[in-house]
Amino acid sequence: MNIILFGPPGAGKGTQSKRLVQSRGWVQLSTGDMLRDARKAGTELGNRVAGIMDRGELVSDEIVIALINERLPEAEAAGGAIFDGFPRTVPQAEALDRLLAERSSPIAKVVRLVVDQDELVARVEKRAAEEGRADDTVDAFKVRLKAYNDQTAPLIPFYTGQNKLVDVDGMGSMDEVSARINAALDA
Ligand code: AMP
Repeated sequence: MNIILFGPPGAGKGTQSKRLVQSRGWVQLSTGDMLRDARKAGTELGNRVAGIMDRGELVSDEIVIALINERLPEAEAAGGAIFDGFPRTVPQAEALDRLLAERSSPIAKVVRLVVDQDELVARVEKRAAEEGRADDTVDAFKVRLKAYNDQTAPLIPFYTGQNKLVDVDGMGSMDEVSARINAALDA
């Protein structure tokens, strides 16, 4: 089963994806992690996206679509993909639909983690202290939130139109949120 974990920066997509990998054996496909890996490895792609990521802006659709496409066979072999931080624009979502249609394994559900804005800020500040991500600064976070509202939020009507969107309360402990996600997936 292929699912998307959807929500603004700091909503808990990465944490909850990792839990689903453990419990369901699916593959987590996080374009943010792939881009951070490319930077760490010092590849040409990594160098090209570094400034864009640190400012909190989105990298081009072309780049992330290619990264996802490379990993689809692995997800198929595992029996499912958890898309985390992808798609982030309508053209990305349309490309994903096309790629998955070619493999006859469409998105089953889009789980939207709903979290208050104050809580998002608190979580990103905590992550900044723990992980030292360059884009967890106050300024970069504002840009990321704006990118979410302008470019990513239009995916809510997109997936509502496909009858795939399920809202899950993302407030509370990790265990509480995991339980709600599992209930939504099994419903
Ligand atoms: P994330 O870890 O998902 O918050 O992603 C970190 C950064 O990587 C984002 O702020 C963007 O600069 C870039 N990025 C990750 N995924 C995407 C995507 N699907 N589309 C465009 N940029 C992305």
